[in-house]
Amino acid sequence: MRCLSFLPHRLGLALLLVCAPALLAMDLSLDGTLTQGGLLRGQVAPGAQVTLDGEPVATTPDGFFTFGFGRDHPETSVLTVSSPDGTTAQHSLRIAPREYQVQHIKGLPSRLVSPKEEDLTRIREDQAQVAEARAESSALLGFTERFQWPVEGVITGVYGSARVLNGEPRNPHYGIDIAAEEGTPVYAPASGRITLAHPDMFYTGGTVILDHGYGVSSTFLHLQAIEAELGQELRRGERFATVGSTGRSTGPHLDWRMNWFDTRVDPALLVGPMPESADTATAP
Ligand SMILES: [Zn+2]
Repeated sequence: MRCLSFLPHRLGLALLLVCAPALLAMDLSLDGTLTQGGLLRGQVAPGAQVTLDGEPVATTPDGFFTFGFGRDHPETSVLTVSSPDGTTAQHSLRIAPREYQVQHIKGLPSRLVSPKEEDLTRIREDQAQVAEARAESSALLGFTERFQWPVEGVITGVYGSARVLNGEPRNPHYGIDIAAEEGTPVYAPASGRITLAHPDMFYTGGTVILDHGYGVSSTFLHLQAIEAELGQELRRGERFATVGSTGRSTGPHLDWRMNWFDTRVDPALLVGPMPESADTATAP
């Protein structure tokens, strides 16, 4: 028997309640927002196996696991938990759809909107490096931590919005843009290891990828200075870079993205609202 209900929490968290005694014994908990762009974190009994829509999801020795839903994820997913005692439970998850804004940005140099032939080689190289870094599956446990804002400031761009650049439709925006003065320190939102540190990518300028383990990574774009090295481990809250306006950017800001492997999720759902003092500050 399955009987699940999700109670929305004021911080956007969802609490999974299981009313069937058989499922209580399964010891499944799930934390996060069941919506497009949501990153879910959960725990099962140690040794239990988890699949999402038939694909295996790695669990830590203590039974922690994580998975994410993309921008256009369909309305349902099935989470299966197979316990060491041989019992299997299927949980049908309802993924709330979202509506996305359309954002118009003008005044970008035309070469950054419609790159020249010679730029395309560089763009493809950048993309390959990013894909490789995000594909890493380490056993780091940073993903289980409570995430914090890497920078506080005015939010000028959100996850999922459709983009029209200089009047031309382009790929959706997957990060959250936080305006802050050039040189503002950037802090690790959770602990992790740096798997990419590039001073000048074509679109994203100074770029850092931080692996939080089990496929969860943060990407930080348009950085001015990168103060940490490839392979370096960072603690949550540790400074590693400064805000800049490098790459395709119209002013100093941090673009923070999060992934579960190649699925792009919304960082804002993990950290809760921007502190009010920062949100009302004057945008540079
Ligand atoms: Zn951005």
